[in-house]
Amino acid sequence: MECPYCGGDCVNKSAVEIYLDMVEMFFKYKDEDSEVTYRKYPTVGEVGECKKTHGRIWLCPYCKKPFKENYKLKEVTIQCPNCKKTLCIPATNRTFC
Ligand SMILES: [Zn+2]
Ligand SMILES: [Zn+2]
Repeated sequence: MECPYCGGDCVNKSAVEIYLDMVEMFFKYKDEDSEVTYRKYPTVGEVGECKKTHGRIWLCPYCKKPFKENYKLKEVTIQCPNCKKTLCIPATNRTFC
């Protein structure tokens, strides 16, 4: 798995495994009709930090590709740059107003 920033070996492989395990549970119980965003869409995986740029690396549970974190202020969802699926941003980046 290549780092989306520098193409190097920055992705934390055990974080990827733990995340993919967890997200399987989400797909089992997800609720398409829910009013709650976090039950409708999976949360993006946080799978490390680029050693060169210190950018955070995110992982899409659909295409399983790492990409650069790209959250926008006040938004709780993003689109995977590869497969264009809707994903929730990780809790650490959530902002509530
Ligand atoms: Zn990197
Ligand atoms: Zn994707």
